[in-house]
Amino acid sequence: MANGDMRNGRCGVCGGGEVCWGEYVAQAGLRQPGKGKFGAKKPVFDAYICAACGHTQLHLRLDATMSSFIRRKLNRMPPQQSKG
Ligand SMILES: [Zn+2]
Repeated sequence: MANGDMRNGRCGVCGGGEVCWGEYVAQAGLRQPGKGKFGAKKPVFDAYICAACGHTQLHLRLDATMSSFIRRKLNRMPPQQSKG
């Protein structure tokens, strides 16, 4: 299932092949967890939505400014060892 990346047109949850693509525009902004004040960034995501089960995968549309913002402002998730 190509590591669950729905940009390949296959749902990462149900395995269905009816993935639709749209834009998700966040109106409220993106901020570090637990921070009280909203950051100024209004991110645009590419949204991949399975028409069979509703599972949705968002990919932030990155440019240099947005990449810099998330690296500076958001918490990094260390890579996890996959089981098996
Ligand atoms: Zn699905």
